[in-house]
Amino acid sequence: MREDAAGYNSRAQKARVWTEGWVLRQMYCPSCGSEPLTEFGNNRPVADFQCLICQEEYELKSTGKKFGKKINDGAYATMMARLESDTVPSLMLLRYTATDKMVQDLSVIPKQFFVTDLIEKRKPLAASARRAGWVGCNILIDRVPKAGRIDLVTNRIAVPKDTVIDRWAKTQFLRGKSLATKGWVLDVLNCVEKIGQAEFTLADVYAFENYLGEMHPENNNVKPKIRQQLQVLRDAGVLEFLGRGRYRVR
Ligand SMILES: [Zn+2]
Repeated sequence: MREDAAGYNSRAQKARVWTEGWVLRQMYCPSCGSEPLTEFGNNRPVADFQCLICQEEYELKSTGKKFGKKINDGAYATMMARLESDTVPSLMLLRYTATDKMVQDLSVIPKQFFVTDLIEKRKPLAASARRAGWVGCNILIDRVPKAGRIDLVTNRIAVPKDTVIDRWAKTQFLRGKSLATKGWVLDVLNCVEKIGQAEFTLADVYAFENYLGEMHPENNNVKPKIRQQLQVLRDAGVLEFLGRGRYRVR
């Protein structure tokens, strides 16, 4: 049992080393397109890579299996403090095949998509654990709207760099907005994506009124709030207003 665990840990460690090396050799900065990315020293455990041109910071999570709905991350309190101070790194998700050391898929979630709702507090570690009482967190990646999950490599094929930079640029409007404001915009964007049509009506979005009301119990005027977010998304170039309560996803 103990040997298996040690074997697993050393495999995970080896995978970490080569996937990090791969990103340093092959990846450009998905925010500005500069290359290469630079590795942070061990004294800076917040993120794994940095772009020296635009200062964007990245954390890399790798798996040889498949990413589930949530990803295990560090201490809950640290994550919440980073959210408040807007210092969360953007998150790279890399899936590899262990047999031939190939990168299967790679995507990035820009840091502007990180909101409080995405972070789940885990149970404190048991009294018997080495770090008893320590509280970690999970990142609920299934709550990130599609617009916030930018593909860099899919099925071993690199997405054109221009496409990546375009998609990143389209999310830039979220930068600098407060956590509460971002929460509303992203929730409405999620609803629009759930409608799943290129064209939709205001009534289609109003159908989520109860759902959004439950997510934001502090707000009693959900409909005006919905209209306000649709305007934000229009100003950001995500949506187009067609008139008479009709919208199109751009
Ligand atoms: Zn950059």
